[in-house]
Amino acid sequence: MVNQDPTNPSHALFDQFVQTQTCKEVQRTFSELCHHLELDPRDYQSFYTKLKERLNYWKAKALWIKLDKRAQHQDYQQGKVCAKTKCLVLGAGPCGLRTAIELALLGAQVVVLEKRDSFSRNNVLHLWPYTICDLRGLAAKKFYGKFCTGALDHISIRQLQLILLKVSLLLGVEVNTGVEFKGWMAKLFPDDHPAGKFQFDVFISAGGGRFVPDGFRWKELRGKLAIGITCNFINHHSAAEAQVAEISGVARIYNQKFFQDLLTEEGIDLENIVYYKDATHYFVMTAKKKSLLKMGVIKQDFSDANQLLGQANVDQDALLRYAHGAAHFSTGHRLPNMQFALNHAGQPDVAMFDFTCMHRAENASLVRERKGKKLLIGLVGDCLVEPFWPLGTGIARGFLAAFDTAWMVRSWGKGKPHLEVVAERESIYQLLSQTTPENISKNYNAFSIDPATRYQHVNLNSIKANQVRNTQILSIAL
Ligand code: FAD
Repeated sequence: MVNQDPTNPSHALFDQFVQTQTCKEVQRTFSELCHHLELDPRDYQSFYTKLKERLNYWKAKALWIKLDKRAQHQDYQQGKVCAKTKCLVLGAGPCGLRTAIELALLGAQVVVLEKRDSFSRNNVLHLWPYTICDLRGLAAKKFYGKFCTGALDHISIRQLQLILLKVSLLLGVEVNTGVEFKGWMAKLFPDDHPAGKFQFDVFISAGGGRFVPDGFRWKELRGKLAIGITCNFINHHSAAEAQVAEISGVARIYNQKFFQDLLTEEGIDLENIVYYKDATHYFVMTAKKKSLLKMGVIKQDFSDANQLLGQANVDQDALLRYAHGAAHFSTGHRLPNMQFALNHAGQPDVAMFDFTCMHRAENASLVRERKGKKLLIGLVGDCLVEPFWPLGTGIARGFLAAFDTAWMVRSWGKGKPHLEVVAERESIYQLLSQTTPENISKNYNAFSIDPATRYQHVNLNSIKANQVRNTQILSIAL
């Protein structure tokens, strides 16, 4: 009879692991749990199975049911399809971790490198319905009880990272934090980190924003000037705060009076505003340059957006007043005791961003060859397509690209010729930027890494192997 004693140390460690709320603590409790159960987390092929055998605890079983359901999907061929594939994933943002999970389910050895050693982003991500369904399938609610309760369709970036980190670890992914990837030939910081010895045949870049490996080219999509402001206020979880309604998106064209009143009363001129009540009170808005200049937030007018929004040209106190004013007005002055939450640097969590110029990688994959060995490289998340935050495209398109990338690695693991692997990936990539909550397939429960389950009209051969650009097959010294 297995010990179900609540004071069983491995049960207590498992509970701590599930509940803990910082990246460091997740890693610490996981390592203690492995130690206690005499499990080697580097034994990636059988780690999850052994963990299930040794941790016979009812709370854990509820989690295994969820993860097993996912793992048993035919796409993964019981984790055998990529059993010989070794993947390095750069970045433990939501998209890097979501990709790592899929690669582990395919049976690959997966090592993640993350330069930060904490998860500190308060900002809140809007989730499309399919992402909610996907995260529920990964047992998000077991790790975060408040996950998308009722009509909620958002989550803070740090909370999402925590959930995905926990799932990754349970599935045998090696996650190294505080390690920066600095280039090929395993250039890391610190330079003596053991992960530098890892030999991989797949490299996934999920470094966010503008982190793109050599060989990839950008397209710049320049629109009219769009200045985004995000801010977070402490959520004291009082009854009064609970009464204040969220704003899931109000745009100028739909509510002229609201924006006119805001301008008249506060001098604040916005294009749109979103408010989510999450771990913090989070606001994201697009502000007009003229009013930012008038309110002294931007000191001097420049045509170049970098100069305009550069640190030297922004009055931080005026920005705090502007953000506070917009948040206070848009919630009908009903949010009591509005104190800014702090960011990773201990400063009020308010930031201004330029959405004028969005980047998009021209291609999603390439292959490098050296001495007869091939390395498959893929981009996922923000470094593939920069998202427009108010629409929540970062996670929605980010996760789609994570699945598409896993599908690519599956083909690679199956030994498909590399030109065909790249051609197929690029065929699928053509769909990504046009994907919306409306035109995506609605059978969310059937979503898998197979693109046909997600995109309504997908042609895996729209780009042929002989059309793959020679810039995508590079024979060079790594
Ligand atoms: P990220 O979440 O940016 O993750 C990339 C990870 O890679 C980071 O953890 C980074 O530390 C790591 N990394 C980068 N370079 C290296 C390297 N050389 N070596 C090792 N690790 C590396 N979206 C919204 O919808 N609303 C918001 O309000 C919002 N606010 C944001 C605020 C900030 C400061 C940032 C950076 C992004 C924000 N986003 C927001 C975007 C959103 O976070 C992303 O769309 C989402 O997290 C998915 O991105 P990702 O996983 O591709 O990249």
